[in-house]
Amino acid sequence: MATELTGRIVLPGDPAYDKARENLNLYQPKFPGAIVFCQEEKDVLHALAFAREKGLPFRVRGGRHSYQNFSIVDNGLVIDLSEMNDVTVNVPTKTAKVSAGADLGKVYNTLWKYGLALPAGTEFSVGVAGLTLGGGIGYLSRLFGLTCDHLLKVKMVVPKGEKGADIIEVTREQHNDVFWACCGGGGGNFGIVTELTFRTHPIDNVSVFKIEWEFDQLESVYETWQGWAPFTDDKLTSTLELHAKSQNVIRSLGQFVGSKKRLIELIKPLIQENKPKKVQLASLPFNKAFNYFNDPAGNKPSFFKRSGSFGYKPIPKRGIKIMKRFLEHAPNDSAAIWQQSLGGAVSEVETKDTAFYHREALIAQEYNTSWTNEEEARENIQWVVALRKQMRPYTDGDYVNWPDLSIRDWPKAYYGENFHRLREVKTAVDPLNVFTFQQSIPPFHE
Ligand SMILES: Cc1cc2nc3c(=O)[nH]c(=O)nc-3n(C[C@H](O)[C@H](O)[C@H](O)COP(=O)(O)OP(=O)(O)OC[C@H]3O[C@@H](n4cnc5c(N)ncnc54)[C@H](O)[C@@H]3O)c2cc1C
Repeated sequence: MATELTGRIVLPGDPAYDKARENLNLYQPKFPGAIVFCQEEKDVLHALAFAREKGLPFRVRGGRHSYQNFSIVDNGLVIDLSEMNDVTVNVPTKTAKVSAGADLGKVYNTLWKYGLALPAGTEFSVGVAGLTLGGGIGYLSRLFGLTCDHLLKVKMVVPKGEKGADIIEVTREQHNDVFWACCGGGGGNFGIVTELTFRTHPIDNVSVFKIEWEFDQLESVYETWQGWAPFTDDKLTSTLELHAKSQNVIRSLGQFVGSKKRLIELIKPLIQENKPKKVQLASLPFNKAFNYFNDPAGNKPSFFKRSGSFGYKPIPKRGIKIMKRFLEHAPNDSAAIWQQSLGGAVSEVETKDTAFYHREALIAQEYNTSWTNEEEARENIQWVVALRKQMRPYTDGDYVNWPDLSIRDWPKAYYGENFHRLREVKTAVDPLNVFTFQQSIPPFHE
């Protein structure tokens, strides 16, 4: 008997269609033939079986943040899990069972009620499943590691036989290879995650800082920050934002799991070597620190291009000058280069122990720009692509959660030497390559 779609189904022509299809990145919009908002696990099983029986292209979606819109598809089926978003906390074991459609805001806010935290990204609207499957970096990374380092169990709907779908439970002991692949192998490659179980950490007050300098100080601030941020106390994770020259601001933000007094000591090198125009420090309950880091207006859909890389060694003066030159000739005010310090607990896990490859990088570096009119797209995209290319001699790879279709050798960039094992897992779990998109992991015979 043919499988029926179940859940909340939105079709072209429905009043809800435009909102239902739109992702955060409005560039190159896509028009699915149907979007199914799954309400429970069986809706996910039905959706996968339905797509396979009908031979429909399909994509899996959570928080809609894919830079390249890998979670939507023209004329096909979008399997959206955002309405499956329960978060259940087991206080004695300090673990949390999270339905895969939850966003980070729901996860952080629920855990905070119990004085717990999952180290994850900063923006509340990012989907927990997409983030975790690619790694998950944020302001607790240097102290506790990546989000994927906290995974205990994953429930996943996978292809079965010629047309069917099945559900598997994946842990370090059971389907060990799939579990390994879920820790950094990227979303949408192997199956549809319906639930994730994480270990969490007790958390209370944290200390945060914001320091701002003039654009002209870029080179010396950069040198100081990169020589300090990946090596300072592991309880301190920080970022450095370089903005278009027109904005006249270089900004470092950071979070320290400790006292304000100790934080003042720790940030001294940053301030002493480069006189800032503004320094702010605060001690806050952990859940309030997000107000410090996030734009209060939230994340609105826009046209954007983003890409990234990792710095394994300090960027030499030549590389810093390149970034400065690009920001002096930015396409608009939004253009920025953003870096986050790694090291600490991120680098304590071996490169081969999880699919997340870039364990030894000192920083993650992201190139961003956004625009408002279609005619500006070309210039903005070229700016990001050229900037990444010119930084290549000083950087390596890219974070799979910052995918970029202009990267030709993306398997090496995202996965390095882990790509081979990822293909083995793919061949075992999805030999017919049912889960496929422009940069999906191919099984061996493809
Ligand atoms: C504004 C913004 C802020 C960000 N901040 C951070 C940050 O602080 N730290 C960080 O590490 N990253 C960050 N990212 C990157 C983010 O981790 C990735 O964009 C991630 O893939 C988003 O997942 P999503 O569910 O929101 O997006 P979606 O577009 O819904 O999905 C992204 C990918 O994951 C797949 N996927 C989604 N759900 C599932 C599922 N249930 N099962 C299998 N595959 C699934 C999709 O098919 C797609 O390939 C940010 C991105 C943006 C746009």
